[in-house]
Amino acid sequence: MGREDRGLREPWSRASLERLATLLEHAECRFAAPMVAHTSFQIGGPADLLVCVTTQADLERALDYCAGERVPWMLLGRGTNVLVRDGGVRGVVLTLGGELGTYRFDGNTATAGAGAPLGALARAAGNRGLAGLEFACGIPGSVGGAVVMNAGAYHGQFSDVVASVTVVGAGQAPCRLDRHELEFGYRWSSLQQGMAVVLEAKCELRPGDPVALGAIMAELDAKRRAKQPVGLPSAGSVFKRPPGHYASHLIEAAGCKGRRRGGAQVSPLHAGFIVNTGNATSQDVLALMAEVQAAVYARSGIMLEPEIKIIGEDLDE
Ligand SMILES: Cc1cc2nc3c(=O)[nH]c(=O)nc-3n(C[C@H](O)[C@H](O)[C@H](O)COP(=O)(O)OP(=O)(O)OC[C@H]3O[C@@H](n4cnc5c(N)ncnc54)[C@H](O)[C@@H]3O)c2cc1C
Repeated sequence: MGREDRGLREPWSRASLERLATLLEHAECRFAAPMVAHTSFQIGGPADLLVCVTTQADLERALDYCAGERVPWMLLGRGTNVLVRDGGVRGVVLTLGGELGTYRFDGNTATAGAGAPLGALARAAGNRGLAGLEFACGIPGSVGGAVVMNAGAYHGQFSDVVASVTVVGAGQAPCRLDRHELEFGYRWSSLQQGMAVVLEAKCELRPGDPVALGAIMAELDAKRRAKQPVGLPSAGSVFKRPPGHYASHLIEAAGCKGRRRGGAQVSPLHAGFIVNTGNATSQDVLALMAEVQAAVYARSGIMLEPEIKIIGEDLDE
């Protein structure tokens, strides 16, 4: 069945996407936008409509419109923890830019728009002599993605510093959730349930010495460059760390380090990463993930759980 025929079964149409594009005053809209260009894996078919919203008003308008017209939508941060399937994403993919990607400091508090790059926030905090975000300097995602995923590294995680988060949903005014109203776990937050969009996060930091903080971040950067395939497209660690183990050690022990499927390869440098060696498809990555899970299970009895979010549809759906 062709895409046009399938489109007829949808409760929404291309015309409804075009109407949305005209409603948004300060957004950049692209139809049939290839997700290869918007994900760190550099994999994925087209989104029907990719919208970069730059104001809170446009974001609220887009959410209300999609709810009213029953257009499916999803929020993409910097696309560094996702695998988009080769058939792409139906409906609207929203990203946050402009005023939704800025940050400011007030005393020991950093207030960051969800679209702000996490690494830039960590460095700016360090330069101002504010400690607490050093762990995040090399994490390539956005502040919104860090809250939702509870991003972490080197004994730190976002939940250690977050004081409150402002979220917005269709038909709902923005609402502030204090730390005690949020739940966090390993690479998990209660915000993964439901359809709230993170607008902003406040982080409570501590006074520190800018030179010492800069040195810590330089050391963490060097560690990352030595141990991770930072030069190749990937989505970071593919699997969550099982309690009491490291996924990369289990994968290596199961003989999967360096294993290939099409253009996807278990990194020979860090077995927790799958890298795109040039022309990987989502099918290659998914097949390799399944092979790795089976091999690790056969050797250790542990079933690895994906950390990356797998979105969109297959080419033949
Ligand atoms: C080279 C490399 C190294 C990495 N190292 C680390 C590491 O050390 N530690 C670590 O934890 N992660 C790491 N990652 C993974 C990734 O950077 C983090 O998970 C990051 O927090 C994801 O942020 P993002 O903006 O890219 O989110 P995306 O990948 O765009 O989205 C991830 C999920 O969050 C949701 N989301 C994003 N923004 C919002 C929002 N504003 N509101 C609601 N939902 C939202 C999306 O819908 C999706 O479900 C690495 C990735 C790469 C490529």
